[in-house]
Amino acid sequence: MEWQAIAKEFRQQGLVVIDDPSLCQKLSLDYYYFSPILAAQLKDKRADLIVLARNEIEILTVASLCVYFQIPLTVRGAGTGNYGQCIPLEGGVILDLSQMNRVLSFQPGQVIAEPGVRLSALDKQAQDMGWELRMAPSTYQVATLGGFIGGGSVGMGSINYGMLTDRGNLRGARVVTLEDDPQVLSLRGEQARVLLHAYGTNGIISQLEVALAPTAPWAEAIVCFETFKAATVFAQDLANSGGIHKKQVAVHAHPIPEYFTALKSWLLPDHSAVFVIVSDYDREACEALVHHHGGQLTDYQLQSSKKSHRLLEFCWNHTTLLARAVDESLTYLQVFYGNLARVEKLHTYFGTEVMIHLEFLRVNGQIIPAGLPLIRYTTEKRLAEIMKIHRDAGASIANPHVYTIEEGGNGQIDPAQLAFKKKVDPYGLLNPGKMKSWLFSSRP
Ligand SMILES: Cc1cc2nc3c(=O)[nH]c(=O)nc-3n(C[C@H](O)[C@H](O)[C@H](O)COP(=O)(O)OP(=O)(O)OC[C@H]3O[C@@H](n4cnc5c(N)ncnc54)[C@H](O)[C@@H]3O)c2cc1C
Repeated sequence: MEWQAIAKEFRQQGLVVIDDPSLCQKLSLDYYYFSPILAAQLKDKRADLIVLARNEIEILTVASLCVYFQIPLTVRGAGTGNYGQCIPLEGGVILDLSQMNRVLSFQPGQVIAEPGVRLSALDKQAQDMGWELRMAPSTYQVATLGGFIGGGSVGMGSINYGMLTDRGNLRGARVVTLEDDPQVLSLRGEQARVLLHAYGTNGIISQLEVALAPTAPWAEAIVCFETFKAATVFAQDLANSGGIHKKQVAVHAHPIPEYFTALKSWLLPDHSAVFVIVSDYDREACEALVHHHGGQLTDYQLQSSKKSHRLLEFCWNHTTLLARAVDESLTYLQVFYGNLARVEKLHTYFGTEVMIHLEFLRVNGQIIPAGLPLIRYTTEKRLAEIMKIHRDAGASIANPHVYTIEEGGNGQIDPAQLAFKKKVDPYGLLNPGKMKSWLFSSRP
């Protein structure tokens, strides 16, 4: 492929193109290296060109040129994905949408925005009007709305609103196709769900409409417990307490808190810790519950008056990030435990080979413990054994050590997602290699 000539064509259409090899390398990668398996598989994958689009018309131009030259196109938001989601397996163009970052309109309970808007910027504007994002990943300071819809799944707020894929969270989207004559499709409600967690394999999202939640005077609390079991029982009780409004409950089994050096003043040696974001209106009830379970409330601060850390950045996969900053050999899993009995059983079985980090979320109306346990990695074989032991115990795993959509999820093909890809990307140019079912499907 004559990349210089292709870059020239893109520039002639008024597009900003980056072909400097070191920048192409930097903008081709994400946080794939949390997995030692993906680190080996993906480290050399590179785009040939980075192209920036500033509006939907420019996206259409990029789509037309990629179809004309038959070159792969991978969309990038902020590049904070975990499984090489935006790493181009077959090179080609990376379409950077970080400059499409406008909030287009707010209405009570929902917002319409461009895909490159940072979640934190969107949340700030919503909060000024008494609303906020229903759900946010721990990367929300930098991650984009388009990247969260295309690659994310859960986060702060999931204890109330479940997963991104739950009905009602995504209201609508505009999406650019890679047909011979690229089109803009407008998808509503159910139709738009095919874009969720699709890794940009079935269209380029150019606009999103998402639901918002009423905001509250949030406070961040740290509660320490002598035993992991006491911490989990308190956390589940708090999660189930309908009268205490909260948006985040996480449990870190000892010795995980030792990795959080910035929180040292509020953590107790040899204790497990529960991190909570709770409405200040419910402070008294929350403190009473802490007392009831024998916990020690070591920190309670209103977010509005906080100057130091943000507790969210010690939860979800930031726990892995912080632990790996101390010990690079650590990796992680994504586990749906389902109940505390299973959590306790696996905790006892593995000891500190698998250090349990729980996050509570709503699944089919129930609030269940899921989590991202830290694993002391030794070999690929042992990692597979650890996953098998979890599955045999009845837990389910979304495997973060694979780069295809299906293998990273429940192993099932989503027929709607595949059918939509066949329609909008007949040449299979969008993020090739990530949708496994496409590789084995009879093409349109
Ligand atoms: C430390 C750490 C903590 C994390 N915590 C969480 C968490 O709490 N919850 C969670 O769900 N995830 C989490 N993640 C994963 C990731 O941060 C989120 O999914 C984030 O929302 C991705 O946003 P991004 O802008 O960085 O997307 P990117 O990484 O740039 O993209 C993600 C995927 O979406 C696709 N995409 C991006 N924009 C578009 C578009 N406009 N149209 C079509 N496809 C598009 C990309 O091609 C890619 O496949 C974490 C990751 C790290 C490293």
